[in-house]
Amino acid sequence: MSKNITTRAEDYSKWYNELVVKADLAENSGVRGCMVIKPYGYAIWEKLQAELDKKFKETGHQNAYFPLFIPKSLFEAEEKNAEGFAKECAIVTHYRLKNDPDNPGKLMVDPDAKLEEELIVRPTSEAIIWNTYKNWIQSYRDLPILINQWANVVRWEMRTRLFLRTAEFLWQEGHTAHETKQEAVAEAKQMQDVYADVVENFMAIPVVKGFKTETERFAGADDTYTIEALMQDGKALQAGTSHFLGQNFAKAFDVKFVNKEGKQEYVWATSWGVSTRLMGALIMTHSDDNGLVLPPKLAPIQVVIVPIHKTDEQLQQITDQVDVLVAELKKIGISVKFDDRTNLKPGWKFNEYELKGVPVRIAVGPKDMENGTYEIARRDTLTKEVVSKEAALDYISGLLEDIQANLFNRALTYRDEHITEVNSFDEFKEVLDTKGGFISAHWDGTPETEEKIKELTKATIRCIPLNRVAEEGKCVYTGAVSAGRVLFAKAY
Ligand code: AMP
Repeated sequence: MSKNITTRAEDYSKWYNELVVKADLAENSGVRGCMVIKPYGYAIWEKLQAELDKKFKETGHQNAYFPLFIPKSLFEAEEKNAEGFAKECAIVTHYRLKNDPDNPGKLMVDPDAKLEEELIVRPTSEAIIWNTYKNWIQSYRDLPILINQWANVVRWEMRTRLFLRTAEFLWQEGHTAHETKQEAVAEAKQMQDVYADVVENFMAIPVVKGFKTETERFAGADDTYTIEALMQDGKALQAGTSHFLGQNFAKAFDVKFVNKEGKQEYVWATSWGVSTRLMGALIMTHSDDNGLVLPPKLAPIQVVIVPIHKTDEQLQQITDQVDVLVAELKKIGISVKFDDRTNLKPGWKFNEYELKGVPVRIAVGPKDMENGTYEIARRDTLTKEVVSKEAALDYISGLLEDIQANLFNRALTYRDEHITEVNSFDEFKEVLDTKGGFISAHWDGTPETEEKIKELTKATIRCIPLNRVAEEGKCVYTGAVSAGRVLFAKAY
């Protein structure tokens, strides 16, 4: 297999697209904007899913499943949400095809099979879920409801890219119902923390926690909490969102409960989601010009062992020794593959595992057999060491931890070096053009200024950081008073 990928410096976007395909993660399909996730890519997604699912359950949530279709009358019930998603909906209008009398061998939509009411393919499921919760909630005793669903959704995106923005994508969506505002806000923040924890500690991607401005907020939310990551080309990526929905959906679907004082009240809501976009974040944060770089905690194969031999006898000797190491590694929970295929050269295998981001590669040849050693290479730094076979097990488990930490720290250093404070609009534009990254600047708090800055620079307010310090200043664009800095960036 030849790597032959465009380098990041040559064309970052091309590098990304080629890498996704060559590392066997996903490919474009026969359907516009929709991708095929290949087994290797899906294995990574499954590991991420498992970790998220575990965290959701630890925080008291249960999984359930709701329909793919939403009748139009339900979809339009919460007006802001409907308006926000109206521009990117797929709609089912008919339920049958028939033979086309004018075109033998072709089918046509049967005009007699028109649905009485159109069905919207869910772009998000609040409508169908709140229409269901209405029947589940009567009293405060029925609350809270803490549900998550793993599903696919469809948003008719015009400009799509593998993983980052597709017309159909996989995600999870949590939908919770609460007695009080405080409880719902606490839930929305808790899920933002869960996302930040998994993305930082499992995916090794540092994030900024913040909340969105009114313009960038989820349609139908009172507040959107977000985690924002920075990619290697200096563009930001929204990695996950958690919404405090107030009583908007309860009002739209008339979901009330009798509180402890015997009074009727509308229910408080949250929803939160992360999608296969996280796969894009993973690739764009860590990978290099040789291919994918995977944090060990997410790698389907953490260690690969490649034998180097001339004769069958040599291979047999290597195999006997390696079998012991493989068993020991498996025993301590490390996923390992011994690639003893004889129809492929070791160099070819090295290339392939580098491209696929396997964190640790062990080579063992006749010399190593003589000396009682292994040659152990790490994917993140592309360096290698010769280690005695007695010390190998400890060395490898330590190395996996090192790689995980190194990837996070490397990304954190890059991210921190790319948060730039600016105090004038000229400086703003210059930093954006030359350096990219997050720009920390004062803003007057109005949607008009936000829109104007976006129009002039393509940068949007990624978030108002949760930990921002109060600091009086002047808006970089209008000069009006500002109470603190916000983070701007060009974003995916
Ligand atoms: P939202 O419901 O809009 O808050 O989005 C939930 C999550 O899905 C966020 O993490 C988004 O970044 C992600 N997302 C939104 N649109 C897409 C898309 N077209 N493809 C992949 N992920 C998306």
